[in-house]
Amino acid sequence: MSHVFHRHLEQHYPTAVGGEGPYLIDAEGRRYLDACGGAAVSCLGHSDAEVIEAIREQVGRLAYAHTSFFTSEPMEALADFLIERAPSGLSSVYFVSGGSEAVEAALKMARQYFLERGEPQRKHLIARRQSYHGNTLGALATGGNTWRRRQFEPMLVEVSHVSPCYAYRDQAPGETPEAYGERLAAELEAEIERLGPETVMAFVAEPVVGATLGAVPAVPGYFKRVREICDRHGILLILDEVMCGMGRTGSLFAAEQEGVVPDLTTIAKGLGGGYQPIGATLVSERIRSAIAEGSGFFQHGHTYIGHATACAAALAVQRAIEQRDLLSRVRQLGEGLQQRLVDRFADHPHVGDIRGRGLFRGLELVAERDGKTPFDPSRKLHAEIKRTAMDEGLMCYPMGGTIDGRSGDHILLAPPFILEPYQLDEIVDKLDISLKRVF
Ligand code: PLP
Repeated sequence: MSHVFHRHLEQHYPTAVGGEGPYLIDAEGRRYLDACGGAAVSCLGHSDAEVIEAIREQVGRLAYAHTSFFTSEPMEALADFLIERAPSGLSSVYFVSGGSEAVEAALKMARQYFLERGEPQRKHLIARRQSYHGNTLGALATGGNTWRRRQFEPMLVEVSHVSPCYAYRDQAPGETPEAYGERLAAELEAEIERLGPETVMAFVAEPVVGATLGAVPAVPGYFKRVREICDRHGILLILDEVMCGMGRTGSLFAAEQEGVVPDLTTIAKGLGGGYQPIGATLVSERIRSAIAEGSGFFQHGHTYIGHATACAAALAVQRAIEQRDLLSRVRQLGEGLQQRLVDRFADHPHVGDIRGRGLFRGLELVAERDGKTPFDPSRKLHAEIKRTAMDEGLMCYPMGGTIDGRSGDHILLAPPFILEPYQLDEIVDKLDISLKRVF
C-alpha cells in the first residue's frame, strides 16, 4: 500500500522515473508522449539542459532567502524580464508558488486597492460559470465549476457568475459572433447594475478557458467590451492566464490577442515549465502605487514567495523560449495540430468541436453531434479515455462534461513547444487509436 495520499486513493499510478524531451518514462521503461504538458505545464519538455544547469547553479549559490529579509538576483531579474514583455501598464510582479496562490493574491490585491482608495464598499466579485481559477477557497469560490465546488459551497464566499463565452453551445442560430459577444457584455453589465456598480470590486475571467471547457477562446471583441464596461464602472479586470499564458496560445500573454490590458493578471504553469513550482500575479501601476502610497504594505504572504531557485528556473525557461524563438514555433505547430485534428476527427460521430489557439487545443466530445448532446456523466468517459491513452503511450487531459448539464466531455491538448512536426502525427495517431478503443 502506498503511504502517499493520492488524489484517487484506489488508483494505481505508474512511477515516473525520467523525462526525455516531450516524453515521460516510467519505472518499467514505457514511454509516454506528453501531449498535455501534464496540465499545460511542461512547455519546454522534461530534460532541458540549460534550465537544469540554471537550477544547479542557483542552488549552489543561494537556494532560498525569505523575502521578509532579502530580495534576490533571480527574483529581480525575472520580474524585469516579465514586465519588459508584459502589456504596458503592468509594472510589478508578486511571486508565488502556483496558480491558485496567484489568484488568491490578485483577489486580495483588488480588495486592498479599494480599501487604500477609501472605497471599502467595493467587495463583490463577478466571474463566469464553467471556469476554473484554482482549488484554494478564494479561487474555488471565484471559479464556476460546479463539480469542483459542490462539496465546499458552505465554505465559499459569495461570487456572482455570468455566462462564459462559449460560442459552440451558446451562440444563437443566426447570431453573429459580434452580436453574441455584445449579448454577453450586456449580461455582465446587467449583473453589475443589479449588485450596484459602486460595490463591485473585480471581474475575473480566463482569456482562453482551459480545464473546464477545453481551450475555448472568446469571440472577437468580447474582451474589449468587458474592458470598457469595467472602466465605466471603476471595476478591476483580472485575467487569469495561469493555463493559457506564457506562450501557450502563441503570444506570451493571451490577452495580447484580445487587445486588452488587465489590471491584474495571473500566470503559473508555463512560467516555470514544471522545472520548479512557481506562479505570479502581475500588477498594474495604479494598484501598486495605491498600495505603496497608502499603507505601503500588502497584507498577504507565504513562506515560499519569490523562491530564488524557482525564479532562476523560470528565468531560464523564459529566456530559452525567447532565444529559441519558440513562440513562432507554437503558432506554426498549433496550426499544424489543428489541421491534423480536423483532418482526422472532423467527421467523427462523437467529436462535436475542435478549437483553440497555438498549442492549446480542445476537442469537445458529444454523444450525438446534431443535438450536441453530452454523454451521460455516470459513464466517466474522461477516465476511460485517459486510461486508454496512457495504455497507448499518450498523455492527454480529458475532462468530464455536463457541468450545469450543458457542456460535453472534452480532451485538452497542450504539448511542449519543442515538439517536432512528426510528433504531432504521433499525438493524433495515438489519440485516434485510443478513441477507437473507447467508442
Ligand atoms: N487558474 C487556472 C486558469 C487554472 O487552469 C488553474 C489550474 O489548472 C489554476 C488557476 C490553479 O493553478 P494551480 O493548480 O497551480 O494552483
